Amino acid sequence: MSTETTNLFGLTQQELAGFFTGMGESSFRGKQLYQWLYARGATDFATMTDLGKGLREKLERSARIAALSRVTSKSSRLDGTTKFLFALEDGLTIESVLIPPARSFLGSDAATEDEQKRLTLCISTQVGCPLDCVFCATGKMGFSRNLTTGEIVGQVLEVRRLTGKKITNVVFMGMGEPMMNYDNVMKAIEVMSTGMRIAARRITVSTAGWADRIRQMADERRRAKLAVSLHSANNATRITLMPVTKRYPLAELISAIEYYYTSTKQRVTYEYIFFDGVNDSEKDVAQLVRLARRVPCKINVIPFHSIGFTGPTGVAAGLRQSPRMERIVEHLRSNNLTVMVRSSAGEDIGAACGQLAIMSGQPSVAQAVQPRGRSSGMRRTTIASRVPVLVPR
Ligand code: SAH
Repeated sequence: MSTETTNLFGLTQQELAGFFTGMGESSFRGKQLYQWLYARGATDFATMTDLGKGLREKLERSARIAALSRVTSKSSRLDGTTKFLFALEDGLTIESVLIPPARSFLGSDAATEDEQKRLTLCISTQVGCPLDCVFCATGKMGFSRNLTTGEIVGQVLEVRRLTGKKITNVVFMGMGEPMMNYDNVMKAIEVMSTGMRIAARRITVSTAGWADRIRQMADERRRAKLAVSLHSANNATRITLMPVTKRYPLAELISAIEYYYTSTKQRVTYEYIFFDGVNDSEKDVAQLVRLARRVPCKINVIPFHSIGFTGPTGVAAGLRQSPRMERIVEHLRSNNLTVMVRSSAGEDIGAACGQLAIMSGQPSVAQAVQPRGRSSGMRRTTIASRVPVLVPR
């Protein structure tokens, strides 16, 4: 693989058109390439017979299609969730988690046909994460780099290729903070929705609360759904759980969410883990109810998956799931709020919410392989995969 060639994988249709006009070809070639790369999943110029032999040879010399390569994958025997480990061009690795339709709405007769056909892929946007939320294992491994658009889109394309199945929904809930890699994430959404036929409204961007980018999504009328990891409606408490709150205080975050709703009329999802004695008091819940009434929303309650294997200290060491969780959920519902409780699919393979195999003792596909490439503190890493499997009430 030559580093002098241009990697076409991950380029938008407009960027591909620019690439071709730059080499004296018609911009229409960009449209053809776009189809080949994302609709058909071509990885070799030789297969692109409608481009003409001369152009294909020119491409072989000047460009490449660097998709992801699978290192390994592992499926849960309990629930069919599958975790894929991919190698990036520089040898770092990332994971994606595929959640099968049967798990989407557990034991529910009411599941619609749409829900039964739903195949959700949870993908990463960064290698590691700089935000250091105390309850999340990803933060413990530090931050390596942002993923490129190609590496983001590649997760979806490869899983589609490997399974032969159509991915119907995508959630940006793997490793990393999508809003800190905004441009690549938005381009990836464009490619998925126009090139891979995954409607933007079936794509969810989950953020720890990067208020500026929420406003930007609103200004740009982005159609992907927005989820906000809230975890507390009290600024002081939220700072102890999510240090990003110092940069974007709750008031600023809420104001950005209101702005987003006013501009887009799309309801927002709040994610909330109830921790014993931290954010589960009557006062905490009352504050949550008040906040949740400000714009139309849905609350996803996530069970806490232990990160004990990371050797947590300080606040993180004392975190336990609230024994009051079910009662609180009932209370929220009695206040006419829409509340879903996620299940812990994939727990047996370390693919459930917040589970991250960077340390020994963690079930991980990464531990079965010898990572390639440059040395870093992340050689045995794999990502935290949050599994958005919803249990209806
Ligand atoms: N940075 C983004 C997306 C990645 S985190 C964000 O913060 O939203 C995806 C989801 O997993 C978030 O809602 C996060 O709060 C949740 N999560 C992190 N660690 C967890 C854990 N140990 N148990 C359960 N959920 C966790």
